[in-house]
Amino acid sequence: MPELAEVEVVRRNLSRWWRGRSADRVCILDEKLVESGESDALQAALKEPLKKAGRRGKYLFCHMACGQVLVFHFRMTGKIVCGDKPDPKYGRLSWHVDGAGWLVFKDQRRLGHLCLLSEETLDDYRPLKEMGPEPEDISVDYLRGVCSDRRLLKTALLDQSIVAGVGNIAVSELYWRLRFAPEIKCGQLDEEDWRRLVEEMPLYFEEIIEKSMSDEILYIEEGGTPNDFQVYARFDELCSRCGGTVDKRKVGGRTTYYCPECQRKGA
Ligand SMILES: [Zn+2]
Repeated sequence: MPELAEVEVVRRNLSRWWRGRSADRVCILDEKLVESGESDALQAALKEPLKKAGRRGKYLFCHMACGQVLVFHFRMTGKIVCGDKPDPKYGRLSWHVDGAGWLVFKDQRRLGHLCLLSEETLDDYRPLKEMGPEPEDISVDYLRGVCSDRRLLKTALLDQSIVAGVGNIAVSELYWRLRFAPEIKCGQLDEEDWRRLVEEMPLYFEEIIEKSMSDEILYIEEGGTPNDFQVYARFDELCSRCGGTVDKRKVGGRTTYYCPECQRKGA
């Protein structure tokens, strides 16, 4: 499932493939992707040169030369790939960029979302308005101030209005790095814990972006994907730090993977 890191990889790929270039052909492969009456406008926008690919949280913003902005939200399985066919399996939208090939929005579960906005109305786009700062922009004082003591830290971190882009995988991995138990509450963190959390979040994302850089992002839920994580999706495997056995448990409705031996803070 895409989090900040995966969307950032797509953003960097699009900058490389598409920036400054325009598309000569557009194929809408899944009519459900486009709001009724918007398909002409979408086709026209896609044929403009890409001015800039931006990202906020888990959202991708393609700023076109005409002043339109295409907003992608990948949800569960969405991704954008570059290939030589306009209609690969799970393709929902494709556009042919001269010098690059066919860019395809692929989405196996078809839960992803695309909308067309203008630069002028972008600031009013609700998900953007309600989104908290990026992990690299938060301070200890800010985070402590918005996290009430009795709240599960996990629920707070997954709240996109508190920090943008953090997902379930990042929580498991950050907790392992910080030796936090899965059910740690905000009130159980001391000054040093908050400082380490705020430091570790952008570092984690930087590292996972570097590891994930490739022409096609692969989700761990897809078969055959190598697991770059320390504990996530490693149930019953050995912890690389202490040799304990990785366990999993539902916290705040979502599965957290953790090592019960070396993640004791807040247990
Ligand atoms: Zn361990």
